[in-house]
Amino acid sequence: MNLHEYQARELLGQFGLPYPAGQVATTPAEARRIAAEIGKPVVVKAQVLTGGRGKAGGVKLAKDADEAEQRATQILGMLIRGYVVRRVLITEVIDIARELYLGIVIDRQSQRPVLMASAAGGIDIEEVARQTPEKIMTVAIDPLLGLLEFQARQVGFKLELTPAQVRQFSTIALSLYKSFAGLDASLCEINPLVVRSDGNLQALDAKLSIDDNSLYRHPELAALRDPEAEDPFEREAREDGLSYVKLDGEVGCIVNGAGLAMATMDVIKLFGASPANFLDVGGGARAERVTLALRLILSDPKVKAVLFNIFGGITRCDEVAHGIVAARSQLEADVPIVVRLVGTNQEEGHRILRDAGLTAVTSMTEAAQSVVAALKGPGGVR
Ligand code: GDP
Ligand code: MN
Repeated sequence: MNLHEYQARELLGQFGLPYPAGQVATTPAEARRIAAEIGKPVVVKAQVLTGGRGKAGGVKLAKDADEAEQRATQILGMLIRGYVVRRVLITEVIDIARELYLGIVIDRQSQRPVLMASAAGGIDIEEVARQTPEKIMTVAIDPLLGLLEFQARQVGFKLELTPAQVRQFSTIALSLYKSFAGLDASLCEINPLVVRSDGNLQALDAKLSIDDNSLYRHPELAALRDPEAEDPFEREAREDGLSYVKLDGEVGCIVNGAGLAMATMDVIKLFGASPANFLDVGGGARAERVTLALRLILSDPKVKAVLFNIFGGITRCDEVAHGIVAARSQLEADVPIVVRLVGTNQEEGHRILRDAGLTAVTSMTEAAQSVVAALKGPGGVR
């Protein structure tokens, strides 16, 4: 679950991370009131669950309350990478000397949290990571010991901070790790962490993702979820109990099992198309779940063909076949559907599909080739 910056800075602030004064507003009038209270130049920042706000024009400076109101009028309602801006954060402007990057994520390779830091912080850190990965330092954290002070200090010196700044940096990095662990985060990022012109360090941005699997023990964090601001397809899937991630391609995939879903996406790519989503309907999927899944996939206008890849273990092929037939008749889908169905009650499943005029195959290669051919063939997208 991703949190908004205004929520993340509040939580991280409780762990001692230094943020400038600020408050969130939903109307230009409110933005004006907050700016007037701050009584200094302010930054007006779009609150959306995506990065790159700065580049998209969602972060603007204002010299006084009047200007803050104007900026808020411009930014509220703006569309940033498909997300509507419904709130703005108003914070005091900081005079910046240097912009650093500091973050903690789970690293699957080392199976630990890692601290990442860079002197090239600011709005283009993804670009830095791609083009010049050597500019990003990483330090593995032993989960039993936590981040150690000497590790933080080493990073601070490599960032070419003065000894006094290294002390501040070390406190900030240790607090960041405490919040990462305490909040069960999967990602916790400050970009930029700035050196102010007066030499002190200050956090200016906050990005926080909480591990969904931990939300049962953090009801106060679960309550921060903003369904209005999330991707509508992903939200619907979550409410239906399906594991779904939206992607950019045109082949919708409905698969049982996360590993098989990954393999399905790979094989679609291998034959020259791209998957529109990751979707795991789970084990033992019954007809109504299959219908839900197909409806969800087809509500994405980019989907031009659908591939079912079902391996029947606990899941029964005849159940899935009934689900596909029912879903198709309810949804009047005119996109081609290819079904690969193997395992428990396979023959029965194939017979049900045949009777309904659908073709089912048993090989994954054949299924992927057929769906790509259907996509590129007559009536499909070329
Ligand atoms: P993002 O683009 O979505 O990551 O938004 P950020 O909150 O990180 O802001 C983007 C950029 O705006 C920062 O890298 C800074 O250069 C600038 N910025 C943000 N807050 C301030 C501030 O208080 N003072 C100044 N001078 N620049 C700021
Ligand atoms: Mn940022």
